[in-house]
Amino acid sequence: MTTPAAQPDARPTLSILLPMRNEARNLDRLFQRVTAALAPLGVSYEIVCVDDGSTDDTLARLRTYAKAMPMLRVVSLSRNFGKEIGVAAGLAHTSGRGVVLMDADLQHLPETIGDLYRPWVEGNYGIVYARRKAFDRGGKFRDFLTNAFYKVFDFMSEVGVDRETGDYMLMDRRVVDAFLRMPERHRFNRGLLAWAGFRTTTVDVETASRDGHSQWGYLKLFQLAFHALTSFGTFPLRVWTYIGSAVSLIALFYGAYILIRTMVFGSDVPGFPSLIVAILFSSGIQLIGLGIIGEYLGHVFSEVKRRPLYFVEERIGFDADNGPGTGAGRSGQDHAG
Ligand code: UDP
Ligand code: MG
Repeated sequence: MTTPAAQPDARPTLSILLPMRNEARNLDRLFQRVTAALAPLGVSYEIVCVDDGSTDDTLARLRTYAKAMPMLRVVSLSRNFGKEIGVAAGLAHTSGRGVVLMDADLQHLPETIGDLYRPWVEGNYGIVYARRKAFDRGGKFRDFLTNAFYKVFDFMSEVGVDRETGDYMLMDRRVVDAFLRMPERHRFNRGLLAWAGFRTTTVDVETASRDGHSQWGYLKLFQLAFHALTSFGTFPLRVWTYIGSAVSLIALFYGAYILIRTMVFGSDVPGFPSLIVAILFSSGIQLIGLGIIGEYLGHVFSEVKRRPLYFVEERIGFDADNGPGTGAGRSGQDHAG
């Protein structure tokens, strides 16, 4: 590689953070395009790859690359922790003054790194978000669900998240440090970043359409959405007071109506269907309410256990374990094992 490696114990200007799970077949093109895109910027940089429990030969191939690429760092997690936690693990191991977070499947085009870099340098922004010009979320139905999620999230949570931006962004070191101080387990990174604040801007970039399948199944996406909603507001918890009151009120009026009707017209046996409907409806409402409380209780449960967010099985390409440049422990809580 022709790229200048960062001088020992000097911070590189940029860290390129690539969370990856089973991306072995993309690595050649990925590194080629990332290094080619960074060369004209003339900055020192490191590439930090998080191997998030890959089951293909991603880690083996990263090991080989690391021998030839002095600026390559690899953090291998002890199992698959999911992208949101993988990103947290990766950020803790970056040392750049700015961190570019991008997908490793080349949906975020490395050629657009410069578009994020320039506003960051000129405007001293905390975060430069990339907004996708043409984005394929993988079908109309998925698109609809994603939109619905952001609408509900905006409505319910204390912070707003721009639905047109994705997980492709440049974060300033001060934002990275703030992010690493948020230790919660159920993570929705975009919400955390919005909550943290800081001056942000958005640039429009081209994105590639999906190459292969997303690794997010519907169930996983639904879980993430649910965690996101219950992590950023208590609306779902409080709304049952109102729904419960409304239902009770309706039941009360309906009861009064039946009472009067029985007194005026005498009693008639029918009413079984309405009885069943009323029972099903109110018990359904109660179950939902219980489920919501359970969801919050689950949050509390997993927080009080205070388990580390993740374990690192292997670090490759760092000068010395926990030495300057690993980034581990900077936030005051090294989750690595
Ligand atoms: N990824 C990860 N851990 C996972 C799943 C995915 O680190 O458990 C990585 C994946 O390798 C890719 C990025 O996260 O670099 C985005 O994943 P994917 O393309 O499946 O998601 P989408 O394109 O739907 O955002
Ligand atoms: Mg993808």
